[in-house]
Amino acid sequence: MKSRWQDTEAEAMVTRYAQQGIGRDVALRVYTSRLLGQDPLLVMHGGGNTSVKTTVKDLSGDDVEALCVKGSGWDMGDIEPAGLPAVRMTPLLKLRERDKLSDEDMVRFQRANLLDPGSPNPSVETLLHAFLPHKFVDHTHSTAVLSIADQPNAAELCAEIYGKRMGLVPYIMPGFALAKKAAEVYEADPSVEGLVLLKHGIFTFGKDAREAYERMIAMVTRAEERLATKRKTVFDAAPLPKSLANVAAIGPIIRGIAAEKDAKQEGAWRRLVLDFRASPAVLAYVNGTELKRYAQHGVVTPDHTIRTKNIPLILPAPDAGDLAGFKKAARQSADAFVAAYHAYFQRNNAGRDPAKRELDPLPRVALVPGVGLFGMGRSKKDAAIAADIAENTVLTITDAEAIGTFEALSEADLFDMEYWSLEQAKLGSAAEKPLAGQVVAITGGAGAIGAACAKLFKDNGAEVAVLDLDGNAATVAAKKLGGTALGLACDVLDASSISAAFDRVAAHFGGVDIVISNAGAASQGRIGEVDEAVLRKSFELNFFAHQRVAQAAVKIMLAQGTGGCLLFNVSKQAINPGPDFGPYGLPKAATLFLSRQYALDYGKDGIRANAVNADRIRSGLLTPEMIAERSKARGLSEHDYMSGNLLGREVTAEDVAQAFLHQALSLKTTADVTTVDGGNIAATLR
Ligand code: ZN
Repeated sequence: MKSRWQDTEAEAMVTRYAQQGIGRDVALRVYTSRLLGQDPLLVMHGGGNTSVKTTVKDLSGDDVEALCVKGSGWDMGDIEPAGLPAVRMTPLLKLRERDKLSDEDMVRFQRANLLDPGSPNPSVETLLHAFLPHKFVDHTHSTAVLSIADQPNAAELCAEIYGKRMGLVPYIMPGFALAKKAAEVYEADPSVEGLVLLKHGIFTFGKDAREAYERMIAMVTRAEERLATKRKTVFDAAPLPKSLANVAAIGPIIRGIAAEKDAKQEGAWRRLVLDFRASPAVLAYVNGTELKRYAQHGVVTPDHTIRTKNIPLILPAPDAGDLAGFKKAARQSADAFVAAYHAYFQRNNAGRDPAKRELDPLPRVALVPGVGLFGMGRSKKDAAIAADIAENTVLTITDAEAIGTFEALSEADLFDMEYWSLEQAKLGSAAEKPLAGQVVAITGGAGAIGAACAKLFKDNGAEVAVLDLDGNAATVAAKKLGGTALGLACDVLDASSISAAFDRVAAHFGGVDIVISNAGAASQGRIGEVDEAVLRKSFELNFFAHQRVAQAAVKIMLAQGTGGCLLFNVSKQAINPGPDFGPYGLPKAATLFLSRQYALDYGKDGIRANAVNADRIRSGLLTPEMIAERSKARGLSEHDYMSGNLLGREVTAEDVAQAFLHQALSLKTTADVTTVDGGNIAATLR
């Protein structure tokens, strides 16, 4: 690992922050924190922390000796000075005299001594930073160092690699006791340049930012060099089926077995979203004959527990010719995983601490021989974080096994970390949105109604796939939604295009739960005279396309086994035909009955089917030119034409999206038609 320190960059940062009134020490602290935080082999997703001891002004303008230490919720890779809250040094040092300090008291004490009460909580490792005398202290969960520190003979290895340059701290959970122990190890030999924390990570320190940072790089490099020597063959590959099922085929099965019924609401499921990885390193790892031994010890550093749980779910290699067999075996594995998690909680919470409530027992990582690994989470973002950490774990354990044997923490230590209130607090307690964990695919997704649906469903917590005939428009629409939305080309007239798009959705998110079949176009002709070709073409788009989309979705929903919701955009034409609009209204009427047929045939599978019959929405079907022409023909202003309904209110794409959302959330509603037309008595139902 190379040092990325550059004098010019460092000085540029000092100059830039000086303009904001930030001192040199904090500016350089930001600079090297980012250097460390941008390398996933050192720090991932909020892990690690850094500090500087400096003089800052308090709110009354007086100089105060303070520790500026990474705040909770900040990522080192893009940290700002605000992410390094200042805590008064003198009171922090006084704590050293105590014998005991509870986590809650520690947090309260640290908060009480913040210079700015609006700051985020200082890191749970603040006291460790404070008790070391050095000006700059850096802490990472380096992959290479963990490959060494997660060995039964880690002490010997560290002596071999570092001699007396690094102190060795036994595993203690982060907090007051660890801070005291680390200080004692340092004081026993103040010549050390850093500390290796067994089964946790590494600290380095120095008189200035560069020294602390470059010591980190040097010590990690030494670990890397050791890992490159005296290696043994790591993983012997287990035999695999001749033809392996692909991610699109197994994603929905895995998503299904990793879902649980929501006890609070009949018909509701707690689902997870998936994120797939298959680097050569991942494949070598999941294909190993001893996977069950080396992969199920526990996390490589305790901080990862909240993201990945302690152990992954291991599934069999999926034979493409026997998906049913894979599903059955995967279900058994998942049931065993959940049962083992309940037992783990019971075993380790023997004191029945009422403050500890069992977390959901679902896995957050699945390993599939022959295929790769899946990160799982309540959102695509969380799934990707779990997958990032799982990939990092693969590297750590691979290197550990190459020079020895990977050994994780004891189960009791893992439990203490997983159920540590301060760790749980990192995940936040914000209420989940109603569609969290669900995936929605929307055809015609780049048009007015599609885009309104995409936004509303995304705002309600769903992961969104925007499908549109125009692939570029779909990508743009997805980008506009921001975050994790996916944009895909999909020609609903072409069955192979539909199945390719749904395969992509299944491979990307792990499946689909809600489909808004929205693509369509109006065509006209007096029914007695219209060319049959016009009628057939309209049936292709306004009926058969809905059928093909629904079929592709149902296939995935059945593989998941967690129900689902089909939503069809049928026009008021389905109920109240307009003159000369037969070619449009007839297939829409058939689509209305299509939704009822799906409701009937798949109700027992928990799949609901509903339709919205909307009228007079500004969209690709009703362009500004058409509005101008029609209002003129009726002698109305455009406003009066658009709001020409019982309520006298113009109906918008957002109103249609609201109706679809309502149907998606109403778990006891199927075969429903919701009218969104401001009142059109001839188009009412029954
Ligand atoms: Zn740490």
